[in-house]
Amino acid sequence: EALLTATGVTKSYGATPALRGVDVTVAAGEIVAITGPSGCGKSTLLHCLAGILRADQGSIVYRDQDINLWSEASRSRLRRTEFGVLFQFGQLVPELTAVENVALPLLLAGSGRREAGEAALGWLDRFGVADLAEQRPGAMSGGQQQRCAAARALVTEPRVIFADEPTGALDQLNGEQMMTAMVRAVREQDSSLVLVTHEASIAAYADREIVLRDGAADPSGIGIPG
Ligand code: ADP
Ligand code: ADP
Repeated sequence: EALLTATGVTKSYGATPALRGVDVTVAAGEIVAITGPSGCGKSTLLHCLAGILRADQGSIVYRDQDINLWSEASRSRLRRTEFGVLFQFGQLVPELTAVENVALPLLLAGSGRREAGEAALGWLDRFGVADLAEQRPGAMSGGQQQRCAAARALVTEPRVIFADEPTGALDQLNGEQMMTAMVRAVREQDSSLVLVTHEASIAAYADREIVLRDGAADPSGIGIPG
């Protein structure tokens, strides 16, 4: 059953068309990879689906409502509650420790300090970085920071997680460990995951691959060679 359905989505940056009418459906519990060559519109599509960018035309229906028509405030609230977002570079708050970073979305959602801290520690543990709980991002490697960022994206148990090249800054081993932990969490929670990647080994974690070429879905669906 469709949880998120984008229909006829177009988006331009000034005179540069990035999306030329894309249709995407994401089912509850499904993991979808958006792939295709650099500049084909992957990031733009993900940002439109997540309600970060507003599509010029088309609809993005989540649970029977077209969120593309919603106010910025409503879209922002949706991203804090039912959606989770993860970027290539985790963008942790440098002044906060790992556990404070991961607890932050729960505190913003109204959880108590103790409850948020305990949940955050549990998520750091699932991503193999519980021992870094009291460290600030500056004292961690890129891979460790990205594991914390993934924990932060999942701590609110969102219905849909949107990840833009989540392993793009990681080596092969770190990338695969991150994906394994993310997929396990997504399956346990019965969340959906939409991820952008240019790596075949990462797209292989998805149930389904959507290939973009020049701002449109490629019906041949031939993804990343090799
Ligand atoms: P991908 O993620 O597949 O690399 P993007 O969605 O980032 O593709 O970009 C799609 C097209 O839109 C490209 O031609 C890119 O140069 C252009 N583009 C993306 N972001 C912007 C922006 N902020 N301003 C202008 N053009 C942009
Ligand atoms: P990615 O595709 O991995 O998200 P990009 O390198 O395509 O990253 O884009 C990084 C940032 O630069 C994004 O905010 C994007 O919107 C912006 N951007 C991409 N292409 C252009 C462009 N041609 N002109 C202006 N901004 C761009």
